[in-house]
Order: sequence, then C-alpha cells, then structure tokens
Amino acid sequence: MKDYICPKCRGHLSIDNEIIFLTKNNKEDSAIVLLSAELGNYSFRKNSKVDFEAGDHVNFICPICYENLNADEYDANLAKVIMVEDDGKEVDIVFSKVLGEKCTYSIHDKDIQAFGDNKDNYLDKL
Ligand SMILES: [Zn+2]
Repeated sequence: MKDYICPKCRGHLSIDNEIIFLTKNNKEDSAIVLLSAELGNYSFRKNSKVDFEAGDHVNFICPICYENLNADEYDANLAKVIMVEDDGKEVDIVFSKVLGEKCTYSIHDKDIQAFGDNKDNYLDKL
C-alpha cells in the first residue's frame, strides 16, 4: 500500500486507499474530504450537507499541521502531497484544486506522469 504524507509536516495523510484533507471552498464552506489514493480515480467522499459544486476552488489543508497544501511553485490551481512508494522512493503528487477538473501529476525529478481527462491543462507548468 502506498503511503501519502504532508510535504510540510510529513504526517501520514492516508488510511488504506483514501487520503484525508481538511478543505474549504471559495464560499467558506468547509469539510473533511476523502480522496481516492488511486492516481486518476476522481471519486471522493465528503459530508453530504456540504455543497461543493463543479468549478469551486477548493483549498486543501493538512489535517495534522493545518498548513495549506498549495503547489504555488507550479500553479495557483494546484495542490501537492508526497507519495511514498514501497521501496521508500518519494514522488510529488500534484492535483487540481478546482472541483471537476480531472488532472493529477506524479513528479519525480524530470519524470512526469499525467492522469485524468484534463491532464493537458497544466503540463506546460510542471
Ligand atoms: Zn502537515
């Protein structure tokens, strides 16, 4: 099982096949969100009373250190976590903060893999 950690505090963010985030959208609605840990799988779970909509700009926050996980070094629309593979290799996982925009990138040195229907959107920023 791959492990996902916070780039700021290196706390463990995943349980089994889900990654846990605090989130807040641009309308100040906030919720715990569980994202699938499988790259390219955009299913997620959240409290059903929270009304995030397609196009919302969602801030992803580490539930352990409360730091924002923005990947501003690439683009203001992207967030980042670190995936630790079974052999200890660490890969940056960068994904869109815009709900409904399906793009995820795994970045290790110059090796970039892109996933999702909208993967072309940020390839030139990586
Ligand atoms: Zn953290």
